[in-house]
Amino acid sequence: MHIVGLTGGIGSGKSEASKIFISLGIEVIDLDSIAKDITKKDGFGYAPLVKLMGNDYLNKTKEIDRKKLRKKFFEDISIKKKVESILHPLILEECKNQIKRCDGNNYNYIVIVVPLLFETSVYLDLINESLLIDCRENLQLRRVKARDMNSPTLVQLIMNSQKNRKEKIKKADNVIMNNGTINDLNDQIQRFHKKKQKIIGLNL
Ligand code: ADP
Repeated sequence: MHIVGLTGGIGSGKSEASKIFISLGIEVIDLDSIAKDITKKDGFGYAPLVKLMGNDYLNKTKEIDRKKLRKKFFEDISIKKKVESILHPLILEECKNQIKRCDGNNYNYIVIVVPLLFETSVYLDLINESLLIDCRENLQLRRVKARDMNSPTLVQLIMNSQKNRKEKIKKADNVIMNNGTINDLNDQIQRFHKKKQKIIGLNL
């Protein structure tokens, strides 16, 4: 089964791109969704995370207070690293399980959304090709601020912690520029999709 690794910085348009792939009938595995799911109260990442962080990062219903935790991550890199060392193997395990479930379903290709695809090597080994969604930094900032109401400094901190754009563009097998409208993004993904179907279809 052919696997496309979709990546891009915060606010570049990964989620919008995922929605378009889903509307085309493509199976999308999203690492951010996996991270959220496994750290819900009934998820298998919840207990290890609470063990590490204590009850300070739980809300009234005992769910993880994600906003508070995210803020802490960017203030204290050592906490972020500790949490990642616990959650990353669990996320990878769940991702592999989901890939297994897709296998044998006759999908031409599937998409895995990996925000830090080029920052870590693990997922590069799982995918057949990468697709970078990229947009200008001022657009990135504006879109994230509108979406999350985060403080500009927090957004800037997140952006600084991601590999710079030029480097990613060089590494990516395919790049989609998301500087225009959602319709423009849609057109580009449709083109990518048609190309994949043709190529992968011929190789079957
Ligand atoms: P990511 O998943 O990469 O962080 P999103 O797909 O959530 O980014 O996009 C960030 C925000 O910008 C969202 O609110 C999204 O709806 C919006 N957005 C994405 N692409 C466009 C676009 N081409 N035009 C206008 N808004 C966009």
